[in-house]
Amino acid sequence: MSGEAQADCLFCRIVEGSVPATVVRESETTLAFRDINPQAPTHVLVIPKAHHPDAASLAAADPALTADVLRTAGEVAADEKLGDGYRIVLNTGKDAGQTVFHVHAHVLGGRGLQWPPG
Ligand code: C5P
Repeated sequence: MSGEAQADCLFCRIVEGSVPATVVRESETTLAFRDINPQAPTHVLVIPKAHHPDAASLAAADPALTADVLRTAGEVAADEKLGDGYRIVLNTGKDAGQTVFHVHAHVLGGRGLQWPPG
């Protein structure tokens, strides 16, 4: 269910601390940690602590929390000195390559990024 921690959700486990992660930023409502398989010099995932499966369901359920996630992504980019540009990616659904169904914003930067993405 949207908002409640899910027993079988990897990112809920990271929020509760039972699965380790390299946390770079934390607020009351969000957590930012380094991706274990980085695709760029900076690759950080920003998640809401509350469980929501994807970006659309998060935005529908909690617009303020959606804003927290995007604001945190910008703060991570500033911390990582990505002033020349960065990308925020919200893979949604299996055709987009979403593998973890707890919404997460990828913050990617530190190199030139191609467009269109694969
Ligand atoms: O958008 P998608 O669902 O594919 O992204 C999931 C991301 O979570 C992957 O980039 C993967 O490397 C990352 N991951 C992680 N720590 C884990 C498991 C997955 O950073 N323990």
